[in-house]
Amino acid sequence: MSFSNLGLSQPILDAVASLGYQKPTTIQTKAIPIVLKGENLIAAAQTGTGKTASFVLPILEKLSQSETQRKKRARAIILTPTRELALQVNQSIEAYAQHLPLKSMAMFGGVDYAPQKQALIDGVDIVVATPGRLIDLYGQRAIHFDELEVLVLDEADKMLDMGFIEAINKIIARVPEDAQNLLFSATLSNPVRELAKSAIRDPEEISITKHSASKSNIKQWIVTVDKDMKSSLLSHMLQTNDWKQALIFIETKHGAAKLVSQLEKRGIVAEAFHSGRNQKVRQQLIESFKAGEIQYLVATGVAARGIDIENLPVVINYDLPYPADEYVHRIGRTGRAEAAGEAISLVSKDNFKNLCMIESRLGHLLDRVEIEGFAPKKPVPVSILNYVPKHKREAKD
Ligand code: AMP
Repeated sequence: MSFSNLGLSQPILDAVASLGYQKPTTIQTKAIPIVLKGENLIAAAQTGTGKTASFVLPILEKLSQSETQRKKRARAIILTPTRELALQVNQSIEAYAQHLPLKSMAMFGGVDYAPQKQALIDGVDIVVATPGRLIDLYGQRAIHFDELEVLVLDEADKMLDMGFIEAINKIIARVPEDAQNLLFSATLSNPVRELAKSAIRDPEEISITKHSASKSNIKQWIVTVDKDMKSSLLSHMLQTNDWKQALIFIETKHGAAKLVSQLEKRGIVAEAFHSGRNQKVRQQLIESFKAGEIQYLVATGVAARGIDIENLPVVINYDLPYPADEYVHRIGRTGRAEAAGEAISLVSKDNFKNLCMIESRLGHLLDRVEIEGFAPKKPVPVSILNYVPKHKREAKD
């Protein structure tokens, strides 16, 4: 599937190409044709799946077929729970609409009314708003809904959690009957379904379940860091977290031995587990690790493949694994039997392609963290989902 098969016109195709998107994500493939057909939709999709483009692109397509920026009227409204998301969605709209004459704005509380009112007087096509401020401006007759063609509830579950139900209901009650309604939510919980029932007539429903690889009981996150700071960051993390045990994956056996000695210099006792150690020693290490006598085991992925250790609280990828399936395999070592687990990866700029492959394999971005004192001088860019590697390489040991 490519973007050009989805019924989007050239200015939009050019915009997504200029952003480096090679093909649509799953939610985009499913949602774009439904929205273009004018159907109502409820979709279960999380942040990081490409959900924003899945509704913004077809909305742009529809709105670009006629041109009206009438004073105080919006043709599409996207409701978001937070100011940050409103700004972010508006930024995405500006990027996707870079070759179109459409105008958009972000609208949220806690700031002056005047510039927002002026923008509405000047005329916009799309308003990305938090519900409270929107209903407030509606009450002041600064915006009218009579020309509204599409209403999107983005991150509906979060909006409900934040207590926006009353404002949302007021907005829905004032939207023209024939407007198209779309609802996106990380989960379709009962309250979200209730809202959908009252707000969205005969919707199509799609659900992008995260790959089974992303077991929900495993908290996965990445720490961005410069390559030369990795070992001191790891020491810091081991010293400041209260982890009973951790399995630390590293790419090469030489790297494993070196890391163990670097940790030792900082007063942390760890053992190296790799193919350079004989079978008997390796067996012994596994027994001791299982018995809890070893707190930190630094292992190469290849050597550790056969280790079966239940219920590890933490797996740390000191190096990002290759290929992406190896990542899935590694994180499966924590959070077994529904126990909670953490899978943490240290990621530097030179790991970017590998990160793209892993996040594409998972179908979503991983949460990112910077640790005070270890923020990278060379930032790691945000991944391109659906990344296709040019060259394959082998895992080393
Ligand atoms: P979202 O789920 O909307 O927050 O999007 C997550 C990230 O994926 C954003 O950084 C988008 O720029 C990116 N993205 C969205 N669609 C695609 C695509 N088809 N190909 C590559 N990256 C994408």
